Amino acid sequence: MSSALDQHWPETFRYANKFSPFYREMFRGRKGVPPLETLPTVDKKVLSERNRDFLCVPRSRIAEIVTTSGTTGKPLLWQLTANDVKRLAVNEKISFQCAGLTPRDTVLVAVALDRCFIAGLAYWQGLRELGCAVVRVGASSPLLVLEMIGRVQPTAIVAVPSFLRVIADKARDTKFDLTHCSVKKAVCIGEPIRDGEFILNLSGRAIEKAWGAKIFSTYGVTELANSLCECNAGQGGHLHDQQLHLEILDDDSNRLPDGEVGEVVATTFGVEAMPLIRHRTGDCAALFSAKCKCGRTTPRLGPVVGRKNQKLKFKGTSLFPSMLQAVLEEAGLEKFAVVARRENELSDAVEILFHGDAKIPALRDAVQARAKITPLIRRVSLTEIEKLQLPPEARKRRTFVDLR
Ligand SMILES: [Zn+2]
Repeated sequence: MSSALDQHWPETFRYANKFSPFYREMFRGRKGVPPLETLPTVDKKVLSERNRDFLCVPRSRIAEIVTTSGTTGKPLLWQLTANDVKRLAVNEKISFQCAGLTPRDTVLVAVALDRCFIAGLAYWQGLRELGCAVVRVGASSPLLVLEMIGRVQPTAIVAVPSFLRVIADKARDTKFDLTHCSVKKAVCIGEPIRDGEFILNLSGRAIEKAWGAKIFSTYGVTELANSLCECNAGQGGHLHDQQLHLEILDDDSNRLPDGEVGEVVATTFGVEAMPLIRHRTGDCAALFSAKCKCGRTTPRLGPVVGRKNQKLKFKGTSLFPSMLQAVLEEAGLEKFAVVARRENELSDAVEILFHGDAKIPALRDAVQARAKITPLIRRVSLTEIEKLQLPPEARKRRTFVDLR
């Protein structure tokens, strides 16, 4: 057991047992404080079905109500007390310090502060807690971002990687010299910028080049009111172990050793409104506990390689669609779809459909070299790709189509 766990677990257990209807029911009949790892895990489905039973305080004590991003079904309602918002601010402050930000920095928050998202609120609070000057440019106008870069000379930006690329495109179109602008650091949220080996992916490299800035990945989960940000070493996001405890579990809920990818399972410390114990996030990543090059001794969470329910079984091995997507993007494909179908209990049928003039044997070699599998690869019409990427019911373009 780590010391932070020893320090905070008993209090977390007692609090949840006393105030959370859900956990009181789960813990009924247990004597004393049980070791954390002996308790059942809880997934998002339960969080959704019994949402109100996780709430430990009356509405009069609630300060913020947000929703999760809703990657699975209807967005969940998540509630925070004033102290929870303060905890969020402290967490973000530590995260931004990992990226080397100080009170001398002026930072663009190019993230939505409304629409019930927690992220914008969190970054804004954290930067204020750290003492930075904050410019809330939001995520809707690349032109406004460029204008404010010109007018206030910010040193850093917080944004989703795809929006950073949209801004870079706008800069190119308007002859704005982004590469030599004042922004020297970009904190990237929501989308991966590195592969499982910590190497910058296509998107990450494009951003560093266009912006002339160093990029830092940060991983956050709404219902944990917590995020983990990389330091200069870029070897995973540092865990703030006074606020959060992480475990990496396999499909049978066994704890995986250092460096092995499994589902991220989290326990929050110090949360008043909706504390969580052994919450299955559905995200898959590895945890590294060796001391970091930056000198910090807190564990680091590696890049999220995919959602647990997206994992593909392929003739005795398993892999995430994100790896195939990365290989295809690196090969220069833009119009493609990775399609998965259930073949049998042990294996999925994976097919890659694309439109363009790429050579199929070269694509097959690239996939084989990186992912060690040989899926079917087929050239199709642009209409077919469009139909797969953007079906009528979809809100977002997708390159992974799960028909299992
Ligand atoms: Zn570090």
